[in-house]
Amino acid sequence: CDTSKYILCVENVKKYFGGVRAVDGVTLRVERGSIVGLIGPNGSGKTTLFNVIAGYYKPDAGQVWFDGRRIDGLSPHEIYKLGLVRTFQTPRLWRSLTVFENVAGGVKGHPGEMLRNAILWSRWVPFELKTGEKALDTIAFVGLSPVAGNMADAISGGQMKLAELGRALMGEPKMLLLDEPAAGVNPTLARQIFEGIVRLREEKGITFLIIEHRLEILFDYVDYVYVMHQGRIIAEGKPAEVAENPLVAEIYLGG
Ligand code: ADP
Repeated sequence: CDTSKYILCVENVKKYFGGVRAVDGVTLRVERGSIVGLIGPNGSGKTTLFNVIAGYYKPDAGQVWFDGRRIDGLSPHEIYKLGLVRTFQTPRLWRSLTVFENVAGGVKGHPGEMLRNAILWSRWVPFELKTGEKALDTIAFVGLSPVAGNMADAISGGQMKLAELGRALMGEPKMLLLDEPAAGVNPTLARQIFEGIVRLREEKGITFLIIEHRLEILFDYVDYVYVMHQGRIIAEGKPAEVAENPLVAEIYLGG
């Protein structure tokens, strides 16, 4: 893995569930500062690959390198601390806490399993002003200032996606793995989300690997695309090349 060029290298990774070859020898590389799409029909192994990269699963074979370090075998928490942060298809928010508390709870040092403590703590102790200010800036960036004080279960599905993105940004990621950022979101908001992604790349140099089913939107924003089918990468290239690849049309039509 040429770590000066690539922030993420996935090298011949395999992950099986019993007889199911969910990820069956995947090699992919993500250039620093790029926005890369990961597409493929349902069941092709995208989520499993994300879970391997983010440390939720240990691969059965292969290696994952992030920012010059081998990370397969590290815990999700350790990987988060290195600056590789993922979001989930269904936002994992604390629904009875406010948008502000949810976003602030993503502050670096309080990922995943510690999130709840971080948020509850923030309710009773006047927690660091810096964190609060940063959370407000982040909330403004993702366009949620008008609902910052709302409970997370009282905002729209699209706003929940934005809140989750905001929380991920509080972790000061070098790279974000986004699982369907535009799912269930109207086309205008979907484009705003992708425009936000482009701005984050430009202003903060964040690298993105994005699972997204809405190809007509995704292809307008990504530099490069990998296509998965039955646990393997079956095509890759610039969006225009991938869009014209007959194999890609075939797997989507064939299901
Ligand atoms: P995608 O995200 O592309 O829809 P997944 O990674 O979710 O694909 O699934 C790939 C394959 O692995 C599917 O056949 C799915 O049923 C199987 N699979 C995923 N997770 C598990 C699991 N925890 N246990 C057993 N099989 C799984």
